[in-house]
Amino acid sequence: MLITHANLITWEEPNRILPQHALLIQEGRIAEIGPQEELLARYPAEPQVDAEGQFVMPGNICAHTHFYGAFARGLAIPGPPPKDFPEILQKLWWPLDRSLREEDIRLSALVMLVDAIRHGTTTLIDHHASPNAIDGSLDIIAEAVAQSGLRAVLCYEVTDRDGLDKARAGIAENERFLRRLSQEKVAEGRVAATFGLHASLTLSEGTLDACRQAAPPGVGFHIHVAEHEADQYDSLAKSGRRVVDRLHQHGILGPNTIVAHAIHIDAREACLLAESGTQVTHQPRSNMNNGVGVAEVESLMRLGVNVCLGTDGFPHAMWEEWKTAYLLHKVWHRDPRRMNGYDLVRMAVYNNARLAGSFFPQSPLGVLVPGAHADLIFVDYHPHTPLTPENLPWHIVFGFHESQVTATMVAGKFLMRQRQLLTLDEAEIAEQARRQAPLVWERYYRQFEPNS
Ligand SMILES: [Zn+2]
Repeated sequence: MLITHANLITWEEPNRILPQHALLIQEGRIAEIGPQEELLARYPAEPQVDAEGQFVMPGNICAHTHFYGAFARGLAIPGPPPKDFPEILQKLWWPLDRSLREEDIRLSALVMLVDAIRHGTTTLIDHHASPNAIDGSLDIIAEAVAQSGLRAVLCYEVTDRDGLDKARAGIAENERFLRRLSQEKVAEGRVAATFGLHASLTLSEGTLDACRQAAPPGVGFHIHVAEHEADQYDSLAKSGRRVVDRLHQHGILGPNTIVAHAIHIDAREACLLAESGTQVTHQPRSNMNNGVGVAEVESLMRLGVNVCLGTDGFPHAMWEEWKTAYLLHKVWHRDPRRMNGYDLVRMAVYNNARLAGSFFPQSPLGVLVPGAHADLIFVDYHPHTPLTPENLPWHIVFGFHESQVTATMVAGKFLMRQRQLLTLDEAEIAEQARRQAPLVWERYYRQFEPNS
């Protein structure tokens, strides 16, 4: 397939913008990139897709999300509003994840995947919890990812908060799914996995050791770290160590491990993350919503940490996350020079691509170069000022919007074209989810009844 009349944004380093170019897509990869007339002359028989002068760029990547949270939308938390993050976990997320059964897991994932395709996010790193439907839950999500055509990295979050049996079942689910992936290609190779851990504050010393032993060599972990001070208080009480030190002690850190948030860490913990090459993800919308503070991600990047950008279950509209990060760090530090456009690009483009690419190493990911995975989007943006590789980050912050995404392609296959979803039936999925939501909510509310 030849994509013609494209304004290419390649996200190479340094980035290039190539007007009136064409892309040859073959077998799920970008085979060739060149000036429009040149490629048209060379491949006259190739079926053509006219991009009509839209920007064509790599699909966005989300470094940390939770598909399972879909049914939280519009849910009223009973009683007084949670006063801090531990109460948000206890009153919202934990009763909600306990309410999920197989069909809810499937629909949550599908709803989130529809949202990702529509918003031009092509690779997602998910962190799943469903303590009353653990075994096989990752297969259900993988099947939804397979249907959607997207690319995803899955894990089950092991935790002790629902008892030792469920912690063991969580470990077994990670082991089982990792074994499956080592034996077969799932979703034509578009699904990968990590070993999921909830957070230090719900993991005992014994469970952390059991996870370390269960994780195959070379497989990393995906865990929330110091999202709130409570994680540090708990870790110090349990182990006499701060959270990152504790995880280091248990052999959890390393270049394949993803640490979400890292807000309430100290200087030594930041150095440990840098020295171990651990990946850190930043989710400013979630952090603002939970009132948990702001991670010092600019400092972490200065230390050499690969800081990535995620949504934490917010809609998979990555430019919304860019914009939030752009604004938040300025107001937090009362300095408009903080979190400039290049810092955003470093996190959301290059660092996210490096992280996501490590799970799909066969070809480059998140960049338009010959040989790369053909994961790309069309953006119907018409700037009224010059747009250059140098000022593109600010065009994205002030001008781009996910509603301008008209086409989404993964592995050379269109999942959306001219704003029409091609792999998932958006209306039908929304209808099914609306029918299912009252059942999930009923199970959720039942846990607040006095005798439950
Ligand atoms: Zn999270």
